[in-house]
Amino acid sequence: MRTKIVATYGPGIAPRHILSKVLKHVDVVRINFSHANEEAALRDVDNVTSVSRSIGKEVALMADLPGPKIRLGIMKSSIDVKRSDTVTLRYGAGAEAKGRIPLGFDLYRYLKKGSIISIGDGYLNLSVEKLTNGDITCRALGSGTLSSRKGLNIRNGNVTAAPPTAQDVTIAKFAKKAGFDFIAMSFVRSAQNILDMRRKIGDAYIISKIERAEAVKRIDEISAESDAIMVARGDLAFEVGVEMIPIMQTRIIHSAIKFHKPVIVATHMLMSMVNNPMPTRAEVTDIATAVLSSADCLMMSDETAVGKYPVEAVRTMATTARNAEEIAVQAAQFKITNIEQGIAYAAKELADNYRTGCIFTPTESGHTAMTLSAMRSKSEIIALSRFEKVRRRLSLYYGVHSIGISYYRTTEDLLSQISGIAKRRGIRRYIVVSGVPHTKGSTKMLQYIAQ
Ligand code: PGA
Ligand code: MN
Repeated sequence: MRTKIVATYGPGIAPRHILSKVLKHVDVVRINFSHANEEAALRDVDNVTSVSRSIGKEVALMADLPGPKIRLGIMKSSIDVKRSDTVTLRYGAGAEAKGRIPLGFDLYRYLKKGSIISIGDGYLNLSVEKLTNGDITCRALGSGTLSSRKGLNIRNGNVTAAPPTAQDVTIAKFAKKAGFDFIAMSFVRSAQNILDMRRKIGDAYIISKIERAEAVKRIDEISAESDAIMVARGDLAFEVGVEMIPIMQTRIIHSAIKFHKPVIVATHMLMSMVNNPMPTRAEVTDIATAVLSSADCLMMSDETAVGKYPVEAVRTMATTARNAEEIAVQAAQFKITNIEQGIAYAAKELADNYRTGCIFTPTESGHTAMTLSAMRSKSEIIALSRFEKVRRRLSLYYGVHSIGISYYRTTEDLLSQISGIAKRRGIRRYIVVSGVPHTKGSTKMLQYIAQ
């Protein structure tokens, strides 16, 4: 299996017997800090780490930051709303006591009569009817439940501030200390937002979530500055209209490919499996389409976090993606811009055309493996690194498997370790592409080995 899978953590997969089945198919676990606090996150990380050890699989961790999202305030109890009901929202202390739905953000001045507010995942839309002294009186256009901290979006409303928020920075620093591999930034608008984050938290692997119309317009500058990209279709749909999602998804993937960055397709991939053990035809087609259009990675949200069938859902995703990989064509032409890429490309061409089936790439930084992944080699890319951090980072990259090796001093030492690994895996012919031990950085060595 080459496509990578991210599963969002939550009560749906917390029990050990479920988590151990789910992690077999999963490369990355996402903790959503819109819902988790630090203490709970540490418990969740412990649980994931202990279960992944017990099944002998390295799983990477993604900290997903809340970003400047507009939310409902804290509600003591949830409220069911039916179509045509009148609902009044209000920001500030005591809103709930006054019989209003509390807002976590002062929205009043951004709204006008007729504005559409989408709550939760968009099943419940409210149309603003009246604005009086801070009260926002709305008519429900559908039915749904209002509960604490639910997210909301204003159609075509440009209200949120730029990330990172102060809260994002605090969580990102915590996440780095707690051993998270990836930081996902929500509601990114420009490359500057990512630079600001890097300045505040130092070295970090940053995934930009594309969920604002503005971010799609500036996708190239964002792709260039990010380590990876996420097509965050949940919020993006409210911003650009759900009918534009397939087009935006394609544009975003093309940009990520152009800049050799891995791309994750997220949200509602198997939404019906939250309540049903079987997917719809459209959902599996969505998964296959993402794979065929060169996504590196697919993500589950509610399906694993709160779904009733998380094990069935990850199996469905894995099987569908694997089937699609069989007919997936190479990504758009890879443009070689330096010698290192040229050598990696030669390795890929040799392996693909002579069916060696496998490219070993010993790596200190993961760089050559990342480049080979962006070239969409048909051959398995086996990255060998003594650094757990590097191996875990590679878990987002299409077609890359990581194995730990011990320290090597000479090229002979390295090749003999590789030969051992190849023998154990029954691989007789392979390519090795790497830097030369103890020289700085780049890819310089290419070998074909038949044993
Ligand atoms: P979220 O991000 O689940 O954190 O909102 C993904 C999305 O918006 O699709
Ligand atoms: Mn989102």
